[in-house]
Amino acid sequence: MLTFTDSHCHLDFDELSQSLDEVLTTCEAQQIKRIIVPSIGPQNWQQVLSLPAQMISSVDLYPCLGIHPWFLDGLADDAIEQLDKLIAEHKASLIALGEMGIDGTIAKDSKEPTQHLNQQIAIFEQQLELAKQHQLPVIVHHRRSHPEVVRSLKAAKLSRGGIIHAFSGSYQQAKQYLDLGFLLGIGGTITYPRATKTINTVKKLPIESLVLETDAPAMPLAGFQGLANHPKHVVDVFDALANLRSEDKCMLSEQIEANINRLFNL
Ligand SMILES: [Zn+2]
Repeated sequence: MLTFTDSHCHLDFDELSQSLDEVLTTCEAQQIKRIIVPSIGPQNWQQVLSLPAQMISSVDLYPCLGIHPWFLDGLADDAIEQLDKLIAEHKASLIALGEMGIDGTIAKDSKEPTQHLNQQIAIFEQQLELAKQHQLPVIVHHRRSHPEVVRSLKAAKLSRGGIIHAFSGSYQQAKQYLDLGFLLGIGGTITYPRATKTINTVKKLPIESLVLETDAPAMPLAGFQGLANHPKHVVDVFDALANLRSEDKCMLSEQIEANINRLFNL
């Protein structure tokens, strides 16, 4: 039996949280055994942390704590200290920090692009420092920011690496992350035929470097544009991946699950 982990799903967002029991029952039926739930900032830390206790399904939920680069406006000056405290409090159950990272598009569209980018980099690097101190892996957001993300990760010298969420890019870009001990989050992007660069990269990557994700309710798969994404589609991402790879499905699913176990010590 094939089993799956959605390594990136925002279960606390309205589109999913309003019918959470139903969402998880559907996942259970599709053999989705685990869902990793990143947070976006102080505004949803408690909500994400409280998810596992509310759930009645057998799907294991893993909350993560972090500050997403889209949500820096109005961030409290002591947000990193608050984060540090909360990590210490939840050390026993926390498997990773995130989501965090650098978004070049958001910076470019802001009123002060350079200033915004520098602020993103500063907040990202402070979180990488926390990951190092607490010896946790990180879940990293990137968009038009490979050089900046790679630079920060190289400087951080993390002990446990992490996941490059929604990886898209060339084989050379992927390789830089693999060399830094990171896994690549493969999501709905590969269901779009126009994503040729990413598709060609994913065909060639070592199987030990791949994990699956949906980013639900964001990033709908091809054919579902305009609809809220759902973690059940991690199975469709897997099918799309299996079509690009030479390994048989059983072997592929087992290896991907093993990659998750290895990264998060599960
Ligand atoms: Zn996300």
